[in-house]
Amino acid sequence: MTLSRSLTLLFLAALELVLSMTGAAAQKLSPMAPTPNWAALEAYQKTITRDEFTRLIDQVYTPDGAFWDYAKISDEKLQLFSDTAKTLPLFTLYFAKSEDAEAPLPYVYKTKAVSTDPALPLKGLKIALDPGHIGGDWAQLEARYFKLGDDPSVEEAKLNLITCELLADRLQADGADVVWAKRGYEPVTHLRPDSLHREAIAALAQSSGFKPTASGYTPSFLFGIPVPGSAKRKAGQSAIEARIDNEAALLFYRVAEIRARSEVVNKARPDLTICVHYNADDWGNPDKPTLTGHSRLVIFTNGAYEKSEVAFDDYKYDLLRKLLDRTAVQEERGCALVGQAMLDTLKYPPESYPGSYFAHHVTDVPSVYARDLMANRLYHGPVIYCEGPYMNAKDAYYRIIAGDYLGMKTIQGESVPSIYRQYAAAIEEGVLKYFGVK
Ligand SMILES: [Zn+2]
Repeated sequence: MTLSRSLTLLFLAALELVLSMTGAAAQKLSPMAPTPNWAALEAYQKTITRDEFTRLIDQVYTPDGAFWDYAKISDEKLQLFSDTAKTLPLFTLYFAKSEDAEAPLPYVYKTKAVSTDPALPLKGLKIALDPGHIGGDWAQLEARYFKLGDDPSVEEAKLNLITCELLADRLQADGADVVWAKRGYEPVTHLRPDSLHREAIAALAQSSGFKPTASGYTPSFLFGIPVPGSAKRKAGQSAIEARIDNEAALLFYRVAEIRARSEVVNKARPDLTICVHYNADDWGNPDKPTLTGHSRLVIFTNGAYEKSEVAFDDYKYDLLRKLLDRTAVQEERGCALVGQAMLDTLKYPPESYPGSYFAHHVTDVPSVYARDLMANRLYHGPVIYCEGPYMNAKDAYYRIIAGDYLGMKTIQGESVPSIYRQYAAAIEEGVLKYFGVK
């Protein structure tokens, strides 16, 4: 594609976007988002009081008040709008007059063990596992891969899957019905970067007005933002073509893949979903990675939506659905229990994000933060989103490349169990406590 043709396409995509937004059913959607099914929220009428609704918005979902730029509230109802002028209505929610008058929720996720068999305490519960990232042929594109000298390569998707397989064995031994958002190293989405150029151009056109906030925050779809490893220019390729390729790659593995997984998870209706990741510091060049000093642990509950996110109607819909499902309380409880078990078992210190809005500290456990991530927003029901040790920190790296093993091994002069088994055991302990078993 020539430069001028790329620019023409970009212009046409921008025009198409403007036209689509002035249409009758105008809704402002983030890249690749389906039009929200607002009618599905009718089932939540009168299930919540004004006080509880306001508390959840102000304390969990938009602590900076961004939600209220799009809403009018009275004792009777909440009116949600697409625009800040509040002229384009999206949805009206009627409140219950009191807690006693609340209508029942359309679906209740189990938060307590139902088993009568002490040998199988999680029997009757469905737990979804979501090992983060795709891996395999896609690991380098995802920029979740590095290799230090002659050491084995480190691929995050692999670490996540090993941990989830060990966790699945434990949860199944406890009697749980385990379902997978993704297993193996193939994408769940049938889309591929090469088929997403049109969407990439539209996303870039849309992102031209977007400015990162002072905290450097960018929305989780990250459109228009180059990511290390995936923005390499091919021979003869123009800068804009490389940007489109980069954007198509991001839409593939960050957006389409998570959307496809959310369909799998939401169809299965698990009582709890666990996303498993390993964290990292910036390692620079994946062929000459930098090892940093210390790992830190963090765990995310859905919340703290950014102003730039709630501007999109699909984010408003997802937020409202999460809120009305009342997952916030369960997520905070679950993240606190799993988060504490991880701190106690893995013995790395908690992450800290001083002065950052997009990661907003919640609960008494120091590693628990509210943060809006695509997975914990799109997956229905309570989601526990774990970020494990840093793949490129000296206190975890050598344990990670040692692979999984039984018993103890001396690594860097210390006798330690498999880091994967330790991580899985910590999550299991938190999950048992979440369901009131331990
Ligand atoms: Zn990850």
